[in-house]
Amino acid sequence: MKKILQLQLDPSEAYDEVQFEKAALQKAGIRPSEDEVFVRQNRRSIDARGRKVRVNVEAEIFIKESPDSRLQIDIDYPQVENAERILIVGAGPAGMFAALRAIELGVKPIIIERGKDVRARRRDLAAINKEHIVNPDSNYCFGEGGAGTYSDGKLYTRSKKRGDIRRILEILVRHGATEEILVDAHPHIGTNKLPVVVTKLRETILGSGGEIHFGTRVEDFIIDQSEIKGVITQHGDRILGEGVILATGHSARDIFELLHAKKVLIEPKPFALGVRIEHSQNLIDRIQYHCEIDRGPYLPASSYSLVHQTHFKGKQRGVFSFCMCPGGFIVPAATAPGELVVNGMSPSRRDSRFANSGMVVAVELEDLPEFQKFGPLAAMHFQASVERKAWEMGGKTQVAPAQRMVDFVNKKVSNSLLDTSYQPGLEAVDMSEVLPDFISRRLADAFKAFGQKMRGYFTNESQLIGVESRTSSPVRIPRDRESLEHPEIKGLYPCGEGAGFAGGIVSAAMDGERCAERLITSHIKRTSI
Ligand code: FAD
Repeated sequence: MKKILQLQLDPSEAYDEVQFEKAALQKAGIRPSEDEVFVRQNRRSIDARGRKVRVNVEAEIFIKESPDSRLQIDIDYPQVENAERILIVGAGPAGMFAALRAIELGVKPIIIERGKDVRARRRDLAAINKEHIVNPDSNYCFGEGGAGTYSDGKLYTRSKKRGDIRRILEILVRHGATEEILVDAHPHIGTNKLPVVVTKLRETILGSGGEIHFGTRVEDFIIDQSEIKGVITQHGDRILGEGVILATGHSARDIFELLHAKKVLIEPKPFALGVRIEHSQNLIDRIQYHCEIDRGPYLPASSYSLVHQTHFKGKQRGVFSFCMCPGGFIVPAATAPGELVVNGMSPSRRDSRFANSGMVVAVELEDLPEFQKFGPLAAMHFQASVERKAWEMGGKTQVAPAQRMVDFVNKKVSNSLLDTSYQPGLEAVDMSEVLPDFISRRLADAFKAFGQKMRGYFTNESQLIGVESRTSSPVRIPRDRESLEHPEIKGLYPCGEGAGFAGGIVSAAMDGERCAERLITSHIKRTSI
């Protein structure tokens, strides 16, 4: 027999296994010694709205019955060594999940990835952090697992497609992610565990007969009479396939430039740009959990999500927190020398002393009149110009420009900066010289408003570190809504975040699966799936 209970628990009961079992059985009116019982959590979310933090838990109690597997979806990866082949450019979540789906459907994927495998990639990340050397093919955005590998591994998405999300999470669990990601309302994996998961995803692809070519940058497309036949790599190799899934991410500027040069339709896309904000995690915990000293031994590091509408020169734009990393680190996420970009990541335990979050302003194309001459690449050139400015102001290394929050609002260069998780170091500057006026004014307004919403947030005990500019793609590669094929180039499937159809690990993975399905049904199997 199975019983399902909805419980409101103290953090100690929700996060300590022994206490949880005791509390759940007590609420169910079962004495532990009475029966053979097994108790587990099915869903868990924190409710910190009241003075006392509670945790809502859906508990499952199995009485004289073995618990069923949490994995509900049947997935089989057959051998595809000799099957028809599709090309996938990019081994980020979109590319890897496209490959896995192709294998499930009996088609051989060939992934072409400019970066290195997760292990070799680590050395290049160390070089950025310690020596300020940016390898344009191997960095926090490029390499196996894509931009999501050295990240926080947050796995939530705004998508409402519950079944598809569950599928992605279950595939991650089958490849080494903890089952907790199926339980937590806001699941995350953590940067220390993601490389293991990515390695296992690769092993499944290779073990089923798929191919992955690392260190191979796509430099040209083979297009014949408006149909893509394959790609040309930097080594001059021509690789052919039945269609191409282009999943190169939001930072592949050379791909956007290549498409534009080849007169393949692309469009400028609004995106968001700002800074990363760093507070101590303890300060954020005290605000969010209403605690006086610290969050105690049970609660996870707290997060926040903020949004504020600002008005400047008659235009309304949102300022919002983005990719918050509780207990995390700020990392240098540039993809080329001569630019400075920051982003955030966290280990699975989220136990660093720092809380960081992107704080960005929505940028519309009408905000960028001086960049219109770049046509579809207008927003991309604007983004690059701010990154160059940040690099210059930081001292032309990966040292990042920074300013304390209240000083920024008061337009005062900080006399000293705070301790930081950003390894390459910080330089005190006036951030309003790094950022365009329409961004810095809105940020200043928003910080004051956020201080009202979260008492203690607006403080000089926090600092702005710039710039957070790779929030989403500044270019859209269009595609048909139904077939997902590029409207002008047959066989080309713009996919994932770089094409403008995903934002985050899970949504990119879901988009990869969808593109593989459509490509295969249109060009190989010609039956619906
Ligand atoms: P990407 O992951 O960008 O992958 C694109 C791949 O294409 C790269 O591996 C790149 O090397 C390759 N490529 C590019 N050009 C070429 C070429 N010419 N030839 C061959 N290969 C090429 N999202 C979340 O959901 N949760 C998080 O916690 C989170 N944290 C993040 C932290 C950091 C530091 C960063 C940078 C991003 C984070 N994101 C997070 C965003 C997330 O990583 C992306 O949304 C996601 O990875 C997009 O997937 P994708 O497959 O579309 O593209």
